[in-house]
Amino acid sequence: MKKWVYTFEEGSASMRDLLGGKGANLAEMTRMGIRVPPGFTITTEACREYLASGRLPEGLWEQVREGMRYIEGKMGRRFGDPREPLLVSVRSGAPVSMPGMMDTILNLGLNDEAVEGLARMTGNPRFAWDSYRRFIQMFGSIVMGVPKEAFDEAFEAVKRERGAEQDIDLDAEGMREVAIRFKRIYEEHVGSPFPQDPWEQLRLAIEAVFRSWNNRRAIEYRRIHGIPDTLCTAVNVVAMVFGNLGMDSGTGVVFTRNPATGEKGLFGEFLPNAQGEDVVAGIRTPYPIEKLKEVMPEVYEELEDVAERLERHFRDMQDIEFTVERGTLYILQTRNGKRTAQAAVKIAVDMAKEGLISREEAVLRVRPEDVTAVMHPRVDPRAEKRVIAKGLAASPGAAVGKIVFDPERAVQLARKGEKVILVRPETSPEDIGGMAAAQGILTSRGGMTSHAAVVARAMGKPAVVGSGVAIDLVEGRMEASGVTLREGDVITIDGSTGEVMLGEVPLIPGGVTGELRELLEWADSFRRLGVRANADTPEAARKAVEFGAEGIGLARTEHMFFGPKRLPIMQRMIMAQDEAERRGALEELKPMQVSDFLEFFRILDGKPVIIRLLDPPLHEFLPPYEKLLEDALKGDREAKRLLEVVERLRELNPMMGLRGCRLGIVYPEIYEMQVEAIVEAAVMAKREGVKVVPEIMIPLVGFAEELRILRERLMEVAEETMRRLGERVDIKFGTMIEVPRAAVMAHEIAKYADFFSIGTNDLTQMTLGFSRDDAEAKFLKPYMERGILRESPFKTLDEGVKEMVRILVSRGREAKPDLEIGVCGEHGGDPASIHFFHEVGLDYVSASPFRVPVARLAAAQAALRKR
Ligand code: PEP
Ligand code: MG
Repeated sequence: MKKWVYTFEEGSASMRDLLGGKGANLAEMTRMGIRVPPGFTITTEACREYLASGRLPEGLWEQVREGMRYIEGKMGRRFGDPREPLLVSVRSGAPVSMPGMMDTILNLGLNDEAVEGLARMTGNPRFAWDSYRRFIQMFGSIVMGVPKEAFDEAFEAVKRERGAEQDIDLDAEGMREVAIRFKRIYEEHVGSPFPQDPWEQLRLAIEAVFRSWNNRRAIEYRRIHGIPDTLCTAVNVVAMVFGNLGMDSGTGVVFTRNPATGEKGLFGEFLPNAQGEDVVAGIRTPYPIEKLKEVMPEVYEELEDVAERLERHFRDMQDIEFTVERGTLYILQTRNGKRTAQAAVKIAVDMAKEGLISREEAVLRVRPEDVTAVMHPRVDPRAEKRVIAKGLAASPGAAVGKIVFDPERAVQLARKGEKVILVRPETSPEDIGGMAAAQGILTSRGGMTSHAAVVARAMGKPAVVGSGVAIDLVEGRMEASGVTLREGDVITIDGSTGEVMLGEVPLIPGGVTGELRELLEWADSFRRLGVRANADTPEAARKAVEFGAEGIGLARTEHMFFGPKRLPIMQRMIMAQDEAERRGALEELKPMQVSDFLEFFRILDGKPVIIRLLDPPLHEFLPPYEKLLEDALKGDREAKRLLEVVERLRELNPMMGLRGCRLGIVYPEIYEMQVEAIVEAAVMAKREGVKVVPEIMIPLVGFAEELRILRERLMEVAEETMRRLGERVDIKFGTMIEVPRAAVMAHEIAKYADFFSIGTNDLTQMTLGFSRDDAEAKFLKPYMERGILRESPFKTLDEGVKEMVRILVSRGREAKPDLEIGVCGEHGGDPASIHFFHEVGLDYVSASPFRVPVARLAAAQAALRKR
């Protein structure tokens, strides 16, 4: 005969798959000699059989009866005994925690006779009738599907009739009346009387728990969390103990450490003379756990002792449910406690220091999202807030500031020390200055890869995009949830949740400090992948180094041309009529580039710096076509002139147009200037005693020939410059792999490259044929809803793009075995993608500065999981 039922003395924590989390831990505690009410667990296998056949499997019912005899023996009372009834609770418990799958049924075993017995046994008729009506209510709604409201209405009616304000104001007689009405409601809805046979009650309850595995809530929860449908739930049948037998009884929940801060020590709540569901239902407000110390000091001491044993045994922070029945402590459940990000980091580090877990385990226990959350300021969870809009959580962290609609105004106000939030319909490259000056960014349109979102993440600024708030730039106001706000009004935005809140909401500061710093240092000792940063400005580079970057994996030089002094020169360069004029403008830009690069070299002081030569199509540096057209029609001469140029440069598919190395081939002067500037800066740095390792990177290469031509010419420029300055520096030439052709022809391209850096943004765009600027807004959501995509391919590397990466790595290294290969697309900061990059053997990942700590942790986890 198959074993379907395990008493708590027969199970153990290792039997989680068979007994569910709750059952396995109850068994483990029983083994440890901790006082747990006696009980048994019906296995997940039994559930699986039941769901397949629609019947209780052969032999199960006999084993349940045996299990009940076991409980009876331990409790010295009989199930169904009308004088001194044994009552049980029936609870579901799956191998993984699934909150809200099925509620608990308490007080099972009560009927019209037993309720009298319970009253006599406890000397407390009110308690007995209260228990009975609770049971009818739970059994009716959970097992038989009677609407909860029907019971609630009847309960309120009795209270009204008897002039009772609160539940506690109802006496025994009142509770009896409630129970009688509940039975009537039950019969009306179910069509048969409330079952009086405790064994029938038990059988129905067990079957209901089995069936709850397939209720809508449960299925939905499993789908969202990727839990297999085949796990099934166990059923726990446990002797009832009562926390509501008087002031020497009570119920509570404790954590072994503070789940908000991670602080060691008991933290929790206690409610005298109550059952757990009173607390859950919010009917009465519990006291801090210190109350227990005050009213029952010995019980408190025992609880403290048990809590410590459980934590040591399970080697994690525990969330413990307990009941005190007439001065005796019972533990009803223990599990690893949920915790905030901050607590997760502190607990992992503290436990490693206490010797409870190893450093490897500490590193594996913290989720990469936790690191992000701890680094950024966050909304104080205790704060009151009024949410007026909700958008996409585009860039994490919270920020408070005055609303500003104009980027230039944002810069002005920030200079005066004002904290501002830049509010725009959407952002574009000219807004960068305003974005940098603001505390946070709020847009009404755009998705997770919109300009605002990408730039905000790179800057580490909180951003909420696509919030749908109505913005009137002309009138200078915004509207959301019926509230009209103007420039200067204060709002709070939370880029981790997407919430927009009215006024100043208190924040908790973030940073890589304290325990997080320690955890990341341990992570560094376990990882193989290097971690670099994408940084376009000296400030970003400084942040990157502070956060632990081992170099700059991508410095996009185009951002260096957007400053108010530089843009006009850049535009002059673009509009030049001939090469001479173009060289003139470039000569003016060069000193600015030199000072940018010099600053980078100083900050990185010997660590590698990969500088990418100009990449975007040139029209991005000119005003938008529509705007120029409008101004030109109004007779603006300058606009007319610009319009002609823009018309000439305009392309139907600019992302596949004259950009990247194609620019370098068509207008070699631009790249020549940039290489001169890099070499001059490197020489200056060297003369200052700063170690320099400049690496020059050519974007968007598809043909080996492109790289060969550019490399040859640019090497000459570099040599000439060094000769002119009378100083040598080592430089490397490499390329980005962003075009599918480059990936599959990597063996040829490798011949001319000292290194590869995979640009997974463009590689994704071009492999999938999805525009990175439009896909999010236009069709990613319906694609995810239909299951064509599981997540955004611009966030986590797509399987097809992974295949491209595998090919390029193997072909590249075939041609050049020691070829350095890194990645610098957004995926370099994505934990799931980082696991892949580790496995495929890349040398490093490069991510925006604020993702560097996340990448350090994820890279360590990838290495540790592989072991
Ligand atoms: C890329 O394409 O992945 C990349 C890093 O370059 P950019 O995002 O600047 O196109
Ligand atoms: Mg690119």
